[in-house]
Amino acid sequence: MRTIPHWTDGAPYAPAGPTAPVFDPTTGTVQAEVALAGPADVDHVVASSVRAAAEWRETSLARRSKLLFEFRNLIESRTDELARIISAEHGKVVSDAAGEIARGLEVVEFACGVPHLLKGSHSESVSTETDVHSMRQPLGVVAGITPFNFPAMVPMWMFPIAIACGNAFILKPSERDPSAAIRIAELWAEAGLPPGVFNVLQGDKGAVDGLLTHPDVRAVSFVGSTPIARYVYEQGTAHGKRVQALGGAKNHMVVLPDADLAVAADAAVSAGYGSAGERCMAISVVVAVGRTGDALVDLIAERTRRVRVGPSLDPASEMGPLVTAAHRDRVRGYIDAGAAEGATVVVDGRDPVVDGAPDGYWVAPTLLDHVTTDMRVYQDEIFGPVLCVVRVETYEEAVDLVARNPFGNGVAVFTRDGGAGRRFAHEIDAGMVGINVPIPVPMAYYSFGGWGQSLFGDTHVHGTEGVHFYTRGKVVTTRWADPATRGPDLGVPTNR
Ligand code: NAD
Repeated sequence: MRTIPHWTDGAPYAPAGPTAPVFDPTTGTVQAEVALAGPADVDHVVASSVRAAAEWRETSLARRSKLLFEFRNLIESRTDELARIISAEHGKVVSDAAGEIARGLEVVEFACGVPHLLKGSHSESVSTETDVHSMRQPLGVVAGITPFNFPAMVPMWMFPIAIACGNAFILKPSERDPSAAIRIAELWAEAGLPPGVFNVLQGDKGAVDGLLTHPDVRAVSFVGSTPIARYVYEQGTAHGKRVQALGGAKNHMVVLPDADLAVAADAAVSAGYGSAGERCMAISVVVAVGRTGDALVDLIAERTRRVRVGPSLDPASEMGPLVTAAHRDRVRGYIDAGAAEGATVVVDGRDPVVDGAPDGYWVAPTLLDHVTTDMRVYQDEIFGPVLCVVRVETYEEAVDLVARNPFGNGVAVFTRDGGAGRRFAHEIDAGMVGINVPIPVPMAYYSFGGWGQSLFGDTHVHGTEGVHFYTRGKVVTTRWADPATRGPDLGVPTNR
């Protein structure tokens, strides 16, 4: 059986030790094993990063920028190959995997502009013969701990900016789809990045705990579920690290009575079932306002039944399997619970038959109507292809519903009234808002992050907030004094 290794000093690192199975979600078989780091592996990888960071911070901005351009071109030319690696382990269809690479690439392109992003400021003559300038310097070794659902895009939210800013980066990918990280490391090496600047540490909780407590790791970016995000934030900050920890989500899509219902139904189906609902920006709750309910549910149901579920590598498939058998069972359990608690199962995807792949981890698109806020299907993040429709009478009730939900990642409103859209954007409680856009993932030059239980820490990822997170400020005050003004003065220096 193939073992997926760590990556350090520009090459695979494969010590003997424990492993975990990596499944093929379409066939339901084990396709590889992945190494699970122990304390000695954490020390080995961090030591390599420390050595690399010392040299990398001295590398000119011009050279860093050139390397990022090289890496960008390699990722673009190998997109199809990387997408197939992702699909084979995650289960999302290849076109969707290519889409996540394209969105990640936007952050690489943003980071290519690092000479501009790291410009400091200068003030001449703040006092007599005295000038001040500011700069931002790298932190040293920084780590990214990432979830299974975007094995390329989420790491690419982090490492292009961290590396561009002069840090060495350690990626701890999800143990469920760890191969993309190794292919990315190979492409960095091909681009000419010095060994050790981008390392990969495979593993589970043991690897994460090792990074969170290691004194040489200065900052941790985390993306994953809310309980682990909270844990990583608390442990990381308790060990003196800078931490940004993005958590789970329960994204609402509010449909106002004046909306184009066909457009809204298309959006609900695309954003609810794309990637089998395993997206942090998936729509999981449709809030039907006023008279829209019946017509909207009919339109969504008709589209839901037409989604083609099948093997992730088959170009005819629109939606693939879930990532593991355990996750499939969990999602099915939620549909059972919704039915038992009184929701109407309009489209039931619990037991789909997929030709030629009877043992895959299948759940087909499922539509639940008349969901209420006391049901588990409303309260928990299901992270599967399950859309819940909640009906409310007024716009104010819809806004209140979103405000009372503990998550605050993304939210959308569908309306033909510009004033209503503007008011919604102004008063809604969420970090990312779409007006007639169901998955409002910000561009690389804006920053990505939610509110409430969807983010711990104050800095969002990528954009200028990413540059801020991976650097620290320094302010230099300089005087070239005229000899006539020399002599001791024990008072507080004041400006004159
Ligand atoms: P997860 O929290 O199970 O795992 C995330 C990372 O934490 C993985 O690298 C994993 O190895 C590690 N981990 C798991 N259990 C741990 C533990 N007990 N202690 C320490 N580390 C641990 O998340 P997942 O299932 O891989 O991904 C899905 C979740 O990620 C969903 O909740 C989704 O909403 C969230 N997500 C959020 C965003 C966002 O931007 N807010 C983006 C993508 C995914």
